[in-house]
Amino acid sequence: MTNFIRTIIAEDLKSNKHNGNVITRFPPEPNGYLHIGHAKAICLNFEISKENELGVCHLRFDDTNPLKEEVEYIDSIKEDVKWLGYDWKEHLYFSSDYFEQLFNYATELIKLGKAYVCNLSAEEMRDTRGTLKEPGKNSPYRDRSIQENLELFKRMQAGDFEEGECILRAKIDMSAPNLNMRDPAIYRIRKVEHPKTGNKWCVYPMYDFTHCLSDMIEGITHSLCSLEFEDHRPLYDWFLDELKTPCHPQQIEFARLNINYTVLSKRKLLELVNNSLVDGWDDPRMPSISGMRRRGITPTSIIDFCEKIGVTKKDSLIDMSTFESCIREDLEPSALRSFAVLRPLKVVIDNYPDDKVEELSGPNHPKKPEMGRRTIPFSKKVYIEQDDFMEDPPKKYFRLAPGKEVRLRYGYVIKCNEVIKNDQGEVIELRCSYDPQTLGGKTADGRKIKGIIHWVSKKHAIDAEVRLYDRLFNVPNPTKTEAGKHFTDYLNPDSLETLSSCKLEASLQNANIESRYQFERLGYFALDFVETTKEKPVFNRVVTLRDSWAKMKSS
Ligand code: ATP
Ligand code: MG
Repeated sequence: MTNFIRTIIAEDLKSNKHNGNVITRFPPEPNGYLHIGHAKAICLNFEISKENELGVCHLRFDDTNPLKEEVEYIDSIKEDVKWLGYDWKEHLYFSSDYFEQLFNYATELIKLGKAYVCNLSAEEMRDTRGTLKEPGKNSPYRDRSIQENLELFKRMQAGDFEEGECILRAKIDMSAPNLNMRDPAIYRIRKVEHPKTGNKWCVYPMYDFTHCLSDMIEGITHSLCSLEFEDHRPLYDWFLDELKTPCHPQQIEFARLNINYTVLSKRKLLELVNNSLVDGWDDPRMPSISGMRRRGITPTSIIDFCEKIGVTKKDSLIDMSTFESCIREDLEPSALRSFAVLRPLKVVIDNYPDDKVEELSGPNHPKKPEMGRRTIPFSKKVYIEQDDFMEDPPKKYFRLAPGKEVRLRYGYVIKCNEVIKNDQGEVIELRCSYDPQTLGGKTADGRKIKGIIHWVSKKHAIDAEVRLYDRLFNVPNPTKTEAGKHFTDYLNPDSLETLSSCKLEASLQNANIESRYQFERLGYFALDFVETTKEKPVFNRVVTLRDSWAKMKSS
C-alpha cells in the first residue's frame, strides 16, 4: 500500500537525490522490550528498504544513556526483529560506536564558535529558557572564547567536573520561536559505566546531536521517526549544516501507533513489570512483541496489521478489534480444529457398552479437505462444557437440558435422563442415553436436533491448563487519567483467567509450538512454550472466535 513516505522516496529516486539509494534504520533505545508500536516502525523501515534494489535497513541501538540500558534489552530487541522476519544483514550498529567521532564533531562545533560550555544549573537553564511567548535569556557563559571552551570540554571528559556542574550547549538563538533551538544541550557529564564503552567516557552526547550524526555516519537516506520529533527537525538539520557533513539524511515524521485498551510506552510497560502487575515482559497480555509471541500471535498477523493501518501524519487511536480481526484472518485458514472442554461436566451414557471405543472422525478444517481428518475416540463417559447444560433452560436454549436432546459434534445424539448433584446442590454428572441411529448428522425418523456441542471422551482426554486472556485495561484510553488516578488504576482485573482442569481431545497429543489450534466453538489457541511441561500442556487463548467486546457494547 502506498503512503506519503513511499511517495517522497519515489520522487527522490526519480531525481536521484540520494544517488538512487534507500537506506533506512530502526533506532531503538535499549531501555525496554519492543512493543507493537515499534513493530509499526520496524515494518515501515524494513519494508521500504526491501522495495528498492539497493535498499538496506540498519538496526542501530541508540545507547547514549548508560543509566537505563541493559544487555537483556539489546538481546530481546534483536530476537524480536528477527522473529518478525526482518534481516539487518551486516548492518548492526550502536550509537556508542560513534562516541569518538561525536566527540570530535562537538569539538569541531566549538572551533566554529557554535558551541560553548555552560555552568548554569539545570534550574537556571530552565528559568532562562523562556516560554512559547517569551524569548529566553542568553547564558552568561555564552561568550566564552573558543580556546576556553575547548579547554573546558576536554576537562569535562577528563573527569575534572562533577555531574551537573557544566554542560556543552549549541550556540544557536535564545529567542528562536522553536524552543529546541534555544541553545540546546549537546553533551552532559555522566560518571557511570556504559555497557559497551565501560568507563572510557565521562561525557555522553544528547539524543538530538547523536541521532542526526549517527544517521549521517551510516549514510542513511531517509530517517523515519515519529511525529514528536517534528519540532526537532530544525535542530537535526542545523547540526548537519553547521558541520558541513558529507551527506545529509532527510528526516520524515509519521504518526505513532496508539491502540485502545492498552499502553504503548516502554516506561509504562516497565512499570507494570517492575510492580509485578503482569508476569514479566513476555506476559501474553502485554502489547510487547515477546508477549504477543508467547501468546501465539504470529508475525504475519502483526505485519498485516501494520500494513492495514497505514502510515499518516495524523495521530489516531486504533481499535484493538482491528488488530484482533487481523489475527483471526491469519489463523482461520490454517488453524487445526479440535475439541477442548474448558470447564468439564461428566456425562455417562448408560446404554453404551462399558468397554467399547469407537473411532469417530472430524475434519482438521471444515472448508479444507486437503488438510485431512482427525480421529476422535468416543466411549461411555464423555465431558461436555458446563455451560452446555442447563437444568432450567430458557425457551431458546438448544443445548442439553433434562429430557432434551443434543448432538455431540461428529457423533451421536444424546438425551439427558438424570441430573446428579453433590451435597452443595451442584450438578456433578449427567446420566444420558444415546441414539445409535444418529451418526453422520442424521436421525432415523428425521427429527431435527438444533444444538450441536463439542465433547471429549473421558478415557482418552488429555489434562491441560488453559489461559484465557482479555484486554489488559478496561477503559479505551488508560493514559488519559482522571485527577488523582494513575493508569494502573484502570487495569482489567479479569484480564487473565486460568483454567487448570481442562480436557483436550486425544489428537492434541501431538500439539507443537509452531501450530495454532482452533478449539471448536471457543477460539484460537497456542501452546505456551514457556510453561508447558511433558506432564501438562498449557494453552494460551490467542484470540476469541468473534469480537465479544462489540457484542457487549451493543447489548
Ligand atoms: P517508548 O515511548 O515506548 O519508549 P520510544 O519512541 O522512546 O518509545 P525508541 O526505542 O526510541 O522508543 O523507538 C525506536 C523507534 O520506534 C523510533 O523511531 C520511534 O519513533 C519508533 N516508535 C516507538 N514507539 C512507536 C509507536 N507507538 N508507533 C510508531 N513508532 C514508534
Ligand atoms: Mg525514546
